[in-house]
Amino acid sequence: MKDEKHREAADPSRRNFLKFGGVAAATATVGAAAGAGFVLGRDPDANVGWGRTEAGKDMYFNRESFRVDMSPTMQIVGKPERPEWGDQLFNRMGSLAKSIKAGWNPEEGWENIPDERVRAYYAKYPERWQEMLLSFSARIQHHENIEKYRDRFALAWAHTGAYNRGLNGNFPPKPEGHPDVDDFKWIKSDPVEFKSPAHASELIKKMAFKFGMSLVGITKLDPNFVFKNMMRGMPEWGDEIPAHWKNVIVFGVPMNWDPMYAAVGYSTSKDAYFRAKTAAGLLSAYLGELGYAARPQWPGNDYEIIVPPLAMQAGLGECTRNGILMTPEVGPNIRLAAVITNLDLEPDKPVDLKMKHFCEDCKICADACPSGSISKADKPDAVVRGFRKYEFNQDGCWRFWSQGPTKDAMGCRVCIAVCPYTRKNNWIHALVKETDPRDPTGLTRNALLAMQHNFFYYPEPEAFHGEWTGGHFAGYHQPPEWLRSEKYLNVEKTWEYDGNWEGF
Ligand code: SF4
Ligand code: SF4
Repeated sequence: MKDEKHREAADPSRRNFLKFGGVAAATATVGAAAGAGFVLGRDPDANVGWGRTEAGKDMYFNRESFRVDMSPTMQIVGKPERPEWGDQLFNRMGSLAKSIKAGWNPEEGWENIPDERVRAYYAKYPERWQEMLLSFSARIQHHENIEKYRDRFALAWAHTGAYNRGLNGNFPPKPEGHPDVDDFKWIKSDPVEFKSPAHASELIKKMAFKFGMSLVGITKLDPNFVFKNMMRGMPEWGDEIPAHWKNVIVFGVPMNWDPMYAAVGYSTSKDAYFRAKTAAGLLSAYLGELGYAARPQWPGNDYEIIVPPLAMQAGLGECTRNGILMTPEVGPNIRLAAVITNLDLEPDKPVDLKMKHFCEDCKICADACPSGSISKADKPDAVVRGFRKYEFNQDGCWRFWSQGPTKDAMGCRVCIAVCPYTRKNNWIHALVKETDPRDPTGLTRNALLAMQHNFFYYPEPEAFHGEWTGGHFAGYHQPPEWLRSEKYLNVEKTWEYDGNWEGF
């Protein structure tokens, strides 16, 4: 039975919906819709967030019929030479700045430039030295005038300034020392004045998107979700919450879809962590450029706050059976980061999308979990710090995390991959996501769950384990072709893949 299921999953042409031909016409219609959904699901355009770019869809121009042996604009008319160090403008600039700092005067002329490599360049192009001299006075004029135009260019200044800080090596820097000092380190001038908190929220959300995030929401800082005795850089912190911690901007980005579906072995959270971390740093630097305090919270660097419940309060989604934030756009396939700020913002409100009811009926993640860590109870069956939730065995989950088959990709993510909400943005998924929260009868939910259970293959929980613990590295989906060693590397393929085919 397992082999049969496996073969079907591995071969979409055999696993077509014709096998349901004998059942009711309504089922065939649903099957056809699902088939269309499958085709669309394979299209990177269905990816949510940055998936289209990641899948190479932005490089759309077909160059093949224009290929030539030599670019027509690369005309060789002499003996090609390798470039000198001094040919690079910013190398020369850096060297000249050092010389000026050390007391050298540019008025002495290029013939007296202390750095021989820079001198050699201007010996070759003496007429360009005049331009360089003019650039020094242009820069002085720039510094003299820049503040006069600050109002007009304040946002453009902050935008570039944030990226400029992001280009520094250790970015964002870990908070160090008291937040009353550290959180203000990016501020260089008085705060800009927003027309209203609503205007501030609108702009900050736009910027979170521009810094690479797919979803963003804002909430007041609820002290229930601030850790006690936790302040990065201050080991003996205690319970105090800094007075300027007013609002939290919560944002996130999905993990790359196809590896995530191929959890455990082929998936990673680090891709989305990296993007979320970068955005947290950029947004913090941007707030600092505008004159406001910011304390970024990003994966892999501890947190002073618990982000998922704040994301719920900010209206990004609801909590799932497995304790993860679930959003209408990307389901639980989201990695979060946040920035705490003193900027007055208009907060968002939580949402009721009936995900709670869906989780009560579904249990797919609990059935698939390779460590049995997710509750199968009909209703939330635990109370954690005063909040009703599903029981979740963190340590059991961690035990399974600890046995992943790749060196750096600690984790599992099976519960995210199998969740019916973790689906790409094709029309059938969009239709269901829009219909279910508006359907008071629960019929949409039941129909979707029936489809999930009947049309999809779920490996047994044990199959997700590594071979050394009795499994065979199964995934909800098989890996995408770009993660298959045998396609690109000179290796002997001694394994079979177990999981649904790519798509959906
Ligand atoms: S990450 Fe894996 S082990 Fe942990 S709860 Fe989810 S499915 Fe279970
Ligand atoms: S798989 Fe089902 S039960 Fe689990 S989080 Fe998703 S909807 Fe809820």
